[in-house]
Amino acid sequence: MTSINSKSLELWFITGSQHLYGPDVLLTVAEHSKRVADALSKSAQIPVSVTYKQVVTTPDEISRICADANHDKNCIGVITWMHTFSPAKMWINGLKILQKPLLHLHTQFNRDIPWSSIDMDFMNLNQSAHGDREFGHIMTKMRLKRKVVVGHWQDKAVHERIGVWARAAMGWYDMQGAKFVRFGDNMRQVAVTDGDKVDAEIKFGFSVNTHGIGDLVGVIKSVKDKEIDALIAEYDKSYTLAASLKKSGKNHASLRTAAKIELGMEKFLVDGGYKGFTDTFEDLHGMEQLPGIASQRLMAKGYGFAAEGDWKTSALVRAMKFMATGLKGGNSFMEDYTYHFEPKNNLVLGSHMLEICPSIAASKPTCEIHPLGIGGKADPVRLVFTAGAGAALNASLVDLGDRFRLLVNTVDAVAPKNKLPKLPVARVLWKPHPDMQTGCAAWILAGGAHHTVYSQNLTQEHLEDFSEIAGVELITINKQTTIRSLKQDLAIAELLGK
Ligand code: MN
Repeated sequence: MTSINSKSLELWFITGSQHLYGPDVLLTVAEHSKRVADALSKSAQIPVSVTYKQVVTTPDEISRICADANHDKNCIGVITWMHTFSPAKMWINGLKILQKPLLHLHTQFNRDIPWSSIDMDFMNLNQSAHGDREFGHIMTKMRLKRKVVVGHWQDKAVHERIGVWARAAMGWYDMQGAKFVRFGDNMRQVAVTDGDKVDAEIKFGFSVNTHGIGDLVGVIKSVKDKEIDALIAEYDKSYTLAASLKKSGKNHASLRTAAKIELGMEKFLVDGGYKGFTDTFEDLHGMEQLPGIASQRLMAKGYGFAAEGDWKTSALVRAMKFMATGLKGGNSFMEDYTYHFEPKNNLVLGSHMLEICPSIAASKPTCEIHPLGIGGKADPVRLVFTAGAGAALNASLVDLGDRFRLLVNTVDAVAPKNKLPKLPVARVLWKPHPDMQTGCAAWILAGGAHHTVYSQNLTQEHLEDFSEIAGVELITINKQTTIRSLKQDLAIAELLGK
């Protein structure tokens, strides 16, 4: 789970043409396509491989390669390019069956017009300026969602756009057939963390099923002392341990219990093939502590997690972590916890009662133990740290009853000016865009949850591409948002959602 080789995933590069120009031109088109695909595959901005497949020239070829893409295990999406003209009625049946995400690359092999030598042969070979318009038309007529990227194939900005979309396609790929386990049910009476798991599976392709805590406790009990010793050594190496948690300390036994919980949970997830989980403090029968450090470290390993039974956020945490593979910075389960309403310096303090992912930590976390006021269990061990300053965002997936909504608010994280000596949990401070008053009002009007995924390395564009691939409604709150514009977005969404 920790490391995936994203280059083992592939985007298929398919070039459209026709037989009008003779075999020599088609050979040149194939040669150019291979060079473009190879360059994209080697690009540092694109996290997956780009594999040149074929120049397609007939409806049968197009339908066959679309069917092949659907069935290929490593193919996460398709890039198309019309080097020459490719009459688009040929594409209808292929596009009708294509189930993989599609990016339309509107490029040209030559960057510059060869002013002194350009003739009609050159013009016939380099026709994407109109060939890609014909192709775009049919997709618009068929109401197909896709990303269109325009520019020369050697331009870094083009690679960046493709790379962002490739990450969205990775998230979608990872979600198909993904399994999430809920340890116990939702926190009682909470609305936003609940929702329709059957609808979610139909829409997003991931399943959510429950195991009673007894099933997990059974696995935790099977953990061996030797395994606990090894994990305690890892804690000691990775974090600054509080004095009371050290070997000679009075709470060392609690650290061993925490390690045992982590090992049991990980074993349960590995054995069940799960990509994420939820738990709730109300449902911990037979467990000594609410999993704190366990949930934190499992998130850092790439598992989805959200508290209080919030399976939607858990699935989104996992998807965003997978999308961000290899990027600097992290993604974590988050909660808007409390506010700082100082004039001209409004801030949100984001945290949770324990479970923030150390992938967003600015420096080495401390490992501490403190009482927890709710849940009625022994004091839980947790990692405490502060997340760094910089651009970030919060994303929330909510169930509106007749559809899902993905809500995104871009923010600026700031480093705390004050020490927080008595706050026993990991924390982040941020300023929502466009400002506190508008950002929070917009979030509340859009029905966004108090649970989110906080991302330091994904942008609105990643989630916009993801929402189009998933066919899920997206509402964004960013520097351009006004309450008026947000209300219009919500009204349009309401009409489209019917
Ligand atoms: Mn919560």
